[in-house]
Amino acid sequence: MLRTQPLTGTRRLLRRVRDMMAGDASAQDRLDRIVSIIAADMVAEVCSVYLLRAGEVLELFATTGLNPQAVHLTRLQLGEGLIGTIAAQGRGIADSNVQQNPSFVFRPETGEEIYNSMLGVPVIRGGRVLGVLAVQNRTRRQYTEEEFETLETVAMVLAELLAGGELISRDELLAADSDALEPRTIDGVRLNGGLGMGTAVMHERHLPIDRFVAEDTNAERRRLDRAVVEMHGAIDEMIEATDVADDGEHREVLETYRMIAADAGWLSRIREAIGTGLTAEAAVQKVHNETRVRLSAHSDRYIRERLHDFDDLANRLLQHLLGRVGQKASGDQPNDMIVVARNMGPAELLDYDRSKLRGLVLEEGSATTHVAIIARALDVPVVGRAANVLEIVNEGDALVVDGDNAQVYVRPAEDLHASYAEILSTRAQQRAAYAALRDKPAETVDGVTMSLHLNAGLIADMQTLQDSGADGVGLYRTEIPFMERREFPDVNQQAELYERIFDLAGGKPVVFRTLDVGSDKRLPYWNIGVEENPALGWRALRVALDRPAMLRHQIRALIRAAKGRDLAIMFPMVAETAEFDAAQALLRREVEAARKIGRTLPAKIEVGTMLEVPALAFQMPSLLQRADFVSVGSNDLFQFLFASDRGNPRLADRYDPLSPGALSFLKHLVEQCDGAGVPISLCGEMAGRPLDAMALVGIGFRRLSMAPSAIGPVKAMIRSLSQASLTQYMESLFNQPEHSVREKLREFAVDHGVKI
Ligand code: PEP
Ligand code: MG
Repeated sequence: MLRTQPLTGTRRLLRRVRDMMAGDASAQDRLDRIVSIIAADMVAEVCSVYLLRAGEVLELFATTGLNPQAVHLTRLQLGEGLIGTIAAQGRGIADSNVQQNPSFVFRPETGEEIYNSMLGVPVIRGGRVLGVLAVQNRTRRQYTEEEFETLETVAMVLAELLAGGELISRDELLAADSDALEPRTIDGVRLNGGLGMGTAVMHERHLPIDRFVAEDTNAERRRLDRAVVEMHGAIDEMIEATDVADDGEHREVLETYRMIAADAGWLSRIREAIGTGLTAEAAVQKVHNETRVRLSAHSDRYIRERLHDFDDLANRLLQHLLGRVGQKASGDQPNDMIVVARNMGPAELLDYDRSKLRGLVLEEGSATTHVAIIARALDVPVVGRAANVLEIVNEGDALVVDGDNAQVYVRPAEDLHASYAEILSTRAQQRAAYAALRDKPAETVDGVTMSLHLNAGLIADMQTLQDSGADGVGLYRTEIPFMERREFPDVNQQAELYERIFDLAGGKPVVFRTLDVGSDKRLPYWNIGVEENPALGWRALRVALDRPAMLRHQIRALIRAAKGRDLAIMFPMVAETAEFDAAQALLRREVEAARKIGRTLPAKIEVGTMLEVPALAFQMPSLLQRADFVSVGSNDLFQFLFASDRGNPRLADRYDPLSPGALSFLKHLVEQCDGAGVPISLCGEMAGRPLDAMALVGIGFRRLSMAPSAIGPVKAMIRSLSQASLTQYMESLFNQPEHSVREKLREFAVDHGVKI
């Protein structure tokens, strides 16, 4: 009731703006008249529109009240002055005394020194800030909340005019980038490996809205209700129908999405916006603009990333309201689509025909973005954080997505295109050759059998266990599913997950590594504070021993999940035998407790340790009396051994695991374990690189654990190798003074026909 008066004003103003927008005059003329209409309606002396141009500059495009000569002359950087701040933050500002505002920047050509108060809002379309709409008054006046909302609503309508391409054309933006049609390479981050070639399909999420002002508010509410019911039904159908959604993280992701779709707060805010006189679609858009601003400013990355779920849902709801369901992904899509998007929700990727999807490029995105998890399950290469990709790529451009090297080639030159095509066909042939090896043993030509295992963390990894022919899971990183959740999973939830892993392993052994959090593996819901040296900090077993309940819950869940099957547990980051003892004592207590309540115990429990802290290597005799197996974590071991941060790109090639020192160290570990009759394996990244794996065979490793995609290449290497001649050859390498013996090992491989 309170709002009746101003709302009538909003509707009247919206109609006048809309009528003006629909006129025949040039876009500049229409914009000039619109600013006058707004100023008159809002009783402001000034109304101005600034547009964001190439180079992140805001240019004054139209004004009533400021000096007309300033139009197309006054320019502000993004973030500069109040106007620049509004655009940079995507959020409106009302100030009754701008002259005193520290952000205020005075531009003499505008003559704005006489205006004291200002209300400015961003003009947003499709989640992007296009410019700023501002009114100013001489008097120091407080703008009301209704005026704020009115200006925001008008800005939303105005966005359609600004995006029309008449005021700032796409050509002009491209001209600012002089080589816009030249081949380009964009570096990003790897969200999923693999190589894809195809034709760019721009993921257009913005649906044009024609009607902003409601004739009948109740009818709009009914339209919304109908669309929501339809949308929920369609989401359910999609989740049921999609063949990737039968299990695992992707299922969880889609369930979370379904939950967000039913979020009562979101829907009630849309209803409220309808109450202010907007049509249902305009209300969805308005609430979405607000949600974007709120979430994108959030300090928690997990919450910021949920933004894409909301983007996706808002778009989906608009499709239902506007009767445009499924238009985007159907129709004449090329047979080799590379979808290019700023970001997208998980379900949006499933809207595309999977058989035609060759790759995905995102301007934003991180490894934990839900869509990346779905893409991994679909085996689609993804490059994220590809800067300015939406501006550089045009619909229909030829693209190469190199997920392995995190690069996107746009309009690649012919020879580059040809060489990638060649790589793709070679990879396809190789894949076929590796598939043929699936059931063949990993046996050297002189009869030494290696045991090859997988490193896993996602449910999708488990599905590759049978396909790759691996002997089991040598490292199941339990922290990965923890990282994907919103909160710490309780014992039941963990037991359910681990049971699924056991089931998917189909009787093959799985080594469950207890939580290895801290350092670069952060749980979004558990802030352990800032540490100066996180890799050397409070992480992994250190956390578990200080918070024993956490480890005990995990062990309890594992015992339950095993349901009488063999259980192998491994502790991460053990630095001394005493820590291993402490962890094992907790495990014994849990086994005892389970026995007391009559739970079925695992047929056998094996307890092992990661060897990734160098100090532990000097306690081998005592350790080997206690541990059932040892697995060398070469990623961490070498970062500590060489005092060289494993995540620092500058140091990535500085030290080589195939150096005489590192290989001697590993050989010493193998000898100690062999002497004590304790199995040793290596589960760091080097195990998956054929040449490095060859060296590991040479120094006596008989068990390796690696990424699923490495099993084929490593098996092919083993099957072409004579272990005895390699071991003999390597004897001469350990005492060499050089930095690396990689080249020597490569030459050995070439000379002896080893497939590396
Ligand atoms: C390692 O450190 O080598 C290892 C396998 O563990 P993560 O990479 O998970 O730290
Ligand atoms: Mg490690």
